Amino acid sequence: MTLTALGLPAIRRDAEEHPADMPRTGPLVDTFGRVATDLRVSLTDRCNLRCTYCMPAEGLDWLPGDELLTRDELARLLTLAVTRLGITCVRFTGGEPLLYRGLEDVVAVVAALRPRPEIALTTNGVSLARRARALADAGLDRVNVSLDSVDAVQFAAITRRDRLDDVLDGLAAAAAAGLGPVKVNAVLDPEGGLADAVELLDYCLRYGYQLRIIEQMPLDAGHLWRRDASLGADEIYTALAARFDLSPDPAPRGSAPAQLWQVNGGPATVGIIASVSHAFCAACDRTRLTADGQIRSCLFAAEETDLRALLRNGADDDALESVWRAAMWRKAAGHGINDPGFVQPQRPMSAIGG
Ligand code: SAM
Ligand code: SF4
Repeated sequence: MTLTALGLPAIRRDAEEHPADMPRTGPLVDTFGRVATDLRVSLTDRCNLRCTYCMPAEGLDWLPGDELLTRDELARLLTLAVTRLGITCVRFTGGEPLLYRGLEDVVAVVAALRPRPEIALTTNGVSLARRARALADAGLDRVNVSLDSVDAVQFAAITRRDRLDDVLDGLAAAAAAGLGPVKVNAVLDPEGGLADAVELLDYCLRYGYQLRIIEQMPLDAGHLWRRDASLGADEIYTALAARFDLSPDPAPRGSAPAQLWQVNGGPATVGIIASVSHAFCAACDRTRLTADGQIRSCLFAAEETDLRALLRNGADDDALESVWRAAMWRKAAGHGINDPGFVQPQRPMSAIGG
């Protein structure tokens, strides 16, 4: 028994509610006109690191095995998302997706779909060195590797594991396997984070990786996040600009969450993802599927829609499509972190899929 139980959402929607004005075909839209084309799939809530801003040191009560989607159930939902709902990018995440047995097989299933979506992976990179080639062969297009510091002591303090060299090897293997552009996702430590950011950018420039720094969000399992104890985009920009020549990237941002800066005249860029201080919800193009078969319209959604129960009760593809559409149709305008009444979701980031 762990100290922090895995919080599951209080509100679960059943399949009954289908708004009359919701489109039944075409893109996956919400009432604000946003179109979801990017599917984030959490394959497992388990992880081999214990990042302080995500999981407690002792881990969590993992989802029970019989609640996880089977490989066939997952393949069916992925097929439906791509062939009926207009999903053009599938990103596998977790927990740690490299812990999912048969990841290469799932990647191959998606790679065989038409129209073929882009296939990406967000990983902590710990075991990427020995998997990168097989994943590329299966059809994976690119990876984002999470790395918050290139200082071994600081890395171990943040992740509670001494695995920096494995992650750096994983990055190199991903680049060698053609899984580019290789991106590095960093969440900065409130203490040494600004110095880490400068070292990370130096490192990424040297190896040709694209650094993206993400503001820490209130999604930790311990509900310990405090706005005044996390670094904001403005502070991060100021620290980087003191060391590098930064100019706004002229490329249109589209729905990308990162504001990009050209570094030292380009073409290298660094991105700052200001999820808290400058929310970009109006441009959001995401829909999420958890490892236990729940649809979430937002990282911060208070409600989930249970596709696993429908699947196991024999629902046909028309019913699954309609319920997924209804879940997205109800998507809220924004995450509300900055609203006085904001309530952190019960499900932590590791069980949603970042
Ligand atoms: N384990 C994999 C990894 O770390 O890349 C995939 C899952 S992890 C939940 C996905 C991303 O979410 C990582 O880049 C991680 O840094 C980020 N993340 C986790 N907790 C976060 C938080 N509280 N605020 C912002 N980002 C967070
Ligand atoms: Fe694991 Fe990723 Fe969470 Fe770190 S951020 S504990 S690597 S799931």
